[in-house]
Amino acid sequence: MKFDPAKEIQHLEQFGEFGGVNPSITDSSTFTFLGTDTMEGTFHGETQGCFLYSRHWNPTNKYLSDALAAMEGTEAGWVTASGMAAITNAILQLCNSGDHLVSSVTTYGGTFAFLKNYLPKFNISVTFVDPTDLDAIEKAVQPNTKVIYTESMTNPLLQISDISAMADIANKHGVKLMVDNTFTPMIVAPFKLGAHIVVYSMTKFINGKNDAVAGAICASQEFIDSLIDVNNGTSMLLGPVLDPMRSSSILKNLNTLHIRMKQHSSNAMYLAEKFTELGVKVSYPGLKSHKGHELITRIMNPKFGYGGLIAIDLGTSEKANQLMELMQDKGVGYLAVSLGYFKTLFSNSGKSTSSEVPEDVQKDMGLSEGLVRFSVGLDNDIEDTFLTIESCLKEMKLI
Ligand code: PLP
Repeated sequence: MKFDPAKEIQHLEQFGEFGGVNPSITDSSTFTFLGTDTMEGTFHGETQGCFLYSRHWNPTNKYLSDALAAMEGTEAGWVTASGMAAITNAILQLCNSGDHLVSSVTTYGGTFAFLKNYLPKFNISVTFVDPTDLDAIEKAVQPNTKVIYTESMTNPLLQISDISAMADIANKHGVKLMVDNTFTPMIVAPFKLGAHIVVYSMTKFINGKNDAVAGAICASQEFIDSLIDVNNGTSMLLGPVLDPMRSSSILKNLNTLHIRMKQHSSNAMYLAEKFTELGVKVSYPGLKSHKGHELITRIMNPKFGYGGLIAIDLGTSEKANQLMELMQDKGVGYLAVSLGYFKTLFSNSGKSTSSEVPEDVQKDMGLSEGLVRFSVGLDNDIEDTFLTIESCLKEMKLI
């Protein structure tokens, strides 16, 4: 029986202070105490149920964190002001100076830049590996390795990580497996597959409205508590807390995530099949031709499809740019980075969200300069969208 993250959210009962069907927004940065004893106890993590200061915990953030933990099947969660805050805080909490990480070479460009350019400041080193090569992952583990890092579905190549096999390697060597599940909320449940820490950019599918930047960390209670420890918790001390007003709006959007994921997935599948028929070079994990198709079919939760991201390869960045401008002119969607929006977004990954990755590394990992990544929207008439894209391809004489 597969895990059903949507059912976990369906069964949540979170009410507002006065019985409101939506939890109340607590727009207070600090909280009063009836006595000094409780204040001291709360500071030292000894008192349960009291709030101290909103950089530590805020009731509205707690509602959203609890909902995300339910969705992931973890004991706890903590919401951050961005996806990068979630990733960097979780890594810095686990790694000290002199430590080492093994990371998928294909990650979001900001993550790659943090691992490659920023961590050396702290004398933390990283070995980058092909996330689909389990032998390479295991071989890269060193005595000082603390974390194996990957994305469930990588950005932008859409490779699938074998999370259970990676968790076996991590457990064998006593290291933590951290998985960025931004591309596949609901579809993949990394913690249920053995990952220790799950991170999200909620800016993307989870919020789905492109009106906020936010992130989340889901893990054991012990790990979340360690992040907000007043003496040495990375999140408590670096302070990337999410604003409670945003937590409230994201929580409401989280409740429609399952419906949106199904629609993103079915629209993406439709386009991927049509692109295949046209002879366009297309990558989509839902297609049998995709290298990770069997793996994702085995590990995914049923009913949410294969996700909303597809990539086509036009060979050169000039062709990619021309197509994207034409598609925007004709109303297919927007030439914009980011993903998980109700409108279709497209960008040339090598020159945008993966531009932090040096060109030679892009080439080595198989990232073509002509790759156009689509985050397929919630279009009700996807056939019409396809016909418009087809007319753009015809105008460019690509088909
Ligand atoms: N992880 C992935 C897979 C992403 O695509 C992104 C942003 O594009 C991030 C993390 C960073 O998230 P944020 O922009 O919310 O900091």
